[in-house]
Amino acid sequence: MTTGNIGVTSQNIFPIIKKFLYSDHEIFLRELVSNAVDATQKLKTLASVGEAKGELGDTRVRVLIDKKKKTLTVQDHGIGMTAEEVDKYINQIAFSGAEEFVNKYKDNAAAIIGHFGLGFYSAFMVADKVEIFSLSYKDDAAAVHWSCDGSPEYTMEETIKSERGTDIVLHINDEYAQYLEDSTVEGLLTKYCKFLPVEIAFGMKKEWKDGKQVETDEENIINDINPAWTRKPADLTEEDYTKFYHQLYPHQMDEPLFHIHLNVDYPFNLTGILYFPRIKNNIDIQRNKIQLYCNQVFVTDEVENIVPQYLTLLHGVIDSPDIPLNVSRSYLQSDNNVKKISSHITKKVADKLAEIFRNDREDFEKKWDDIKLFIQYGMLSDDKFYDRAIGFALLKNLDSKYFTFEEYKAQVKEAQTDKNGDLIILYAQDADASYAYIQRAKEKGYDVLLMDGELDVHAMSQLEQKSYETSSPDSPDASSPKAIRFVRVDSDVIENIIQKEDKAAVTLTENEENALRYTFESQLPKTDKTRYDVSLEAVSADALPVFLTQNEFMRRMKEMSVHQQGMSFYGNMPDQYNLVINTANDKVKTLLEEITTACAEGTTPLLEQLATKQAEEKTLQEAQKGKKDADLTQEEKDAVTNITKELVALKQQLKEQYAAYATNSDKLHQLIDIALLAAGQLKGEALAKFVNRSVELL
Ligand code: ADP
Repeated sequence: MTTGNIGVTSQNIFPIIKKFLYSDHEIFLRELVSNAVDATQKLKTLASVGEAKGELGDTRVRVLIDKKKKTLTVQDHGIGMTAEEVDKYINQIAFSGAEEFVNKYKDNAAAIIGHFGLGFYSAFMVADKVEIFSLSYKDDAAAVHWSCDGSPEYTMEETIKSERGTDIVLHINDEYAQYLEDSTVEGLLTKYCKFLPVEIAFGMKKEWKDGKQVETDEENIINDINPAWTRKPADLTEEDYTKFYHQLYPHQMDEPLFHIHLNVDYPFNLTGILYFPRIKNNIDIQRNKIQLYCNQVFVTDEVENIVPQYLTLLHGVIDSPDIPLNVSRSYLQSDNNVKKISSHITKKVADKLAEIFRNDREDFEKKWDDIKLFIQYGMLSDDKFYDRAIGFALLKNLDSKYFTFEEYKAQVKEAQTDKNGDLIILYAQDADASYAYIQRAKEKGYDVLLMDGELDVHAMSQLEQKSYETSSPDSPDASSPKAIRFVRVDSDVIENIIQKEDKAAVTLTENEENALRYTFESQLPKTDKTRYDVSLEAVSADALPVFLTQNEFMRRMKEMSVHQQGMSFYGNMPDQYNLVINTANDKVKTLLEEITTACAEGTTPLLEQLATKQAEEKTLQEAQKGKKDADLTQEEKDAVTNITKELVALKQQLKEQYAAYATNSDKLHQLIDIALLAAGQLKGEALAKFVNRSVELL
């Protein structure tokens, strides 16, 4: 028997292992089973070239639990180790500068394990004592027994072992008794070893008999040794891909929409299958479905640092021995292989989508609604992906017809280019709510898109921006529009949204304009969340007498602020609407006459006084014209202040006169309510009042 010290320059590596690797301690099982699988595969390779003689026999790896002895054993029938090999691979943990490194990476358990080749030693995270029983495949090798209780001292002696291979026996520490529970161990094996290339057996298969679960005499095999991603695409059917999807996600009910089989061997190694799931309107809950493997050993399902964010919406597996697994996350992002892998996957995904689009547009359109969010997310976050996807990203109109951006521009260019040469693209977010506006647009021969998706507002802004960047003002191609703007169909009357000719001027006197303005202003709802301004426009005789409009820019900023940090400034602003009084409409003309007549008694004297005062103000201003503030006497300054005050007071009185009339005017309230109703803003008490008043007026 020999004893010795484990060759670690740092005096005692075990406390470090135990302390720093705490959070990841369950990976000990992954490490030991991987070693067992490696040893088995090495044996198979040697046998295939005739170097290992005799029968291979049973090559299953077994994980065994003995509750009484409190041991967990990982058993293989692989190449085994001779005494020299145990000494070389287990006793001499070859590394330099141990302490320095340990201090640097003490927060990153995986880094320590990877760097030191501590795979085997991770057993000490959960065991007080670890034993190795091994018999090498080599002729005449003697079996060896190695034992270590967690101090840097070990013992090594010859032993008797009849079967080739290695048993690693862990005497589980009482604190980690859960690793003696069948369910815990089976759970871990399923998590890490589900697709390892050598069969892993854990206990016996169970079946239901007479209402009870009983053990059969068949071993319970944890893994599928030939997962779909390791096979050739040519050997797989659609069904195989779907079956594998459900193997990966036993709880996922939906079928994937389509898949991409990745297979690269140069300049890096990468295999895998990615699936497009149906992506519902909530990005966040969809993440963390891609599983990362290294030679079929599960590593993680957090792949944010390996693939671009939007790709984390996909499902599936990526397997690559070239992704450095044991480094810090920030290092990962700057790693060249990782960058190449990431851009390769991006390209593959875009190519696949382009291919389906080209070869089976009908199918692509059918699936569009379910992948739209993913594609928009990709286009918004990755310019390269935008460039690839702009050729197949689709827009859907209210008749459920799909167009690429180019197709759509060509489709509507003729009708929807305004007098300035800008192409106006109309859209609705809620086709029911905007019904009347949509009808008016259609009557004009315009088309309306449906833009009700979570990222549509962002996507539209991006299309506008990109078109702006690529359009050249002095382009010889006169047919290309100057600018492209998306405008919500109910943001204004259609004549204003797509202006074909110069607007007719409002032909009212200032007093008439004020009469209308003050009357309406006095009766508009006043809340903190919504602000209404009044404006007068001679829209057209057949447009509604009064209607609401909303500034496209402000509304979009508010909508975008929901998803974007740093935009709460817009988010906190009240909703702002414009109440437009259409002075070209006959009902408005009649109303104005009624207001003027009804209010004449009170307003005429006020208007006369106002006129006088305004004339005085004008004279004063003329007299002081050209003079600097310092040249004016106090008297002159006071004169201006006084007259301003008087004018404000007179206007206030005038407003009150109109307001007094407005309060009792059913017609006026009816007009305002209709405008609010058309914009979907008449609710609660206001709506009830409107209904009652309408009945009264019948
Ligand atoms: P790594 O697996 O990263 O090399 P480990 O500490 O896990 O580091 O193992 C060190 C070496 O010990 C392995 O490379 C292998 O040569 C040997 N070894 C470990 N486990 C076994 C086993 N079950 N059978 C044969 N050799 C083994």
